[in-house]
Amino acid sequence: RGIIPENHPRRESLLIREKVVEGMMENVVVPQGLIAQGRGECFDYLLGERTQDFALRAIEVSAAMLVTAKSPVISVNGNMAALAAHEIVDLAKSIPAKLEVNLFYRDEERERAIERKLREAGAEEVLGVGKNASETIPELFSERRRVSKEGIYSADVVLLGLEDGDRTEALVRLQKKVIAIDLNPLSRTSLTATVTIVDNVVRAIPELKKKVQDVRNKDREELERLIKGFHNRDNLRSALRYMSERLAQLSLTL
Ligand code: ATP
Ligand code: MG
Repeated sequence: RGIIPENHPRRESLLIREKVVEGMMENVVVPQGLIAQGRGECFDYLLGERTQDFALRAIEVSAAMLVTAKSPVISVNGNMAALAAHEIVDLAKSIPAKLEVNLFYRDEERERAIERKLREAGAEEVLGVGKNASETIPELFSERRRVSKEGIYSADVVLLGLEDGDRTEALVRLQKKVIAIDLNPLSRTSLTATVTIVDNVVRAIPELKKKVQDVRNKDREELERLIKGFHNRDNLRSALRYMSERLAQLSLTL
């Protein structure tokens, strides 16, 4: 951390990377999580490492979905906990939503390490750890399908980040509304989610908390209109167009 120079042009990105590495030292992140981070960094580069307009739109719609949900749940994996534990807990409290640890590579010790990290960040209840993950999602293999009965299993809206495509598809098939934070607009998760926020979790989660506070004062009809007027495919197209136009612009400046 101390060895990244203050004036390094990619300092922010390197600091984020350090957090994921630290997460691995704490048994919160698996080695595959480092690879996911690298893939994300590449897409973030194409976004100019900023929350763009299409992401802000998706964030506003997500806020509307979360505050009007009956039983909203935030699904937390290792990378999310390493990158934004405090921000996730703050967001959960402001909605309010439940927190559930949900891992692709399930391992009780790691679940406990993530739970600890969330509790240190102020979480009171953390679902999905050990025996609490007692329900199964149909059509998913082995341990990848275990979820908490009072959490994801009975949720109507699930917010997740850096999620695997198969698992997102399974939740959508169960009629859940899925909000995905994913830097890659072409991932299966991005294509199948109800709302995809094409942005870094580090920026998107605090922005989502701000929007939750904004939309809370609006009446329900207005929020429903906002949700109805959103088309995820169109928004993903905007993200891709932004990236390609930015690359074309950059090609002129070399
Ligand atoms: P899918 O299974 O949905 O097709 P994938 O197999 O390409 O996705 P995974 O490794 O399963 O990718 O999921 C990780 C996803 O999270 C990738 O799309 C990656 O771009 C994205 N990602 C990585 N780091 C971040 C981050 N900090 N914020 C948001 N998204 C991220
Ligand atoms: Mg995958």
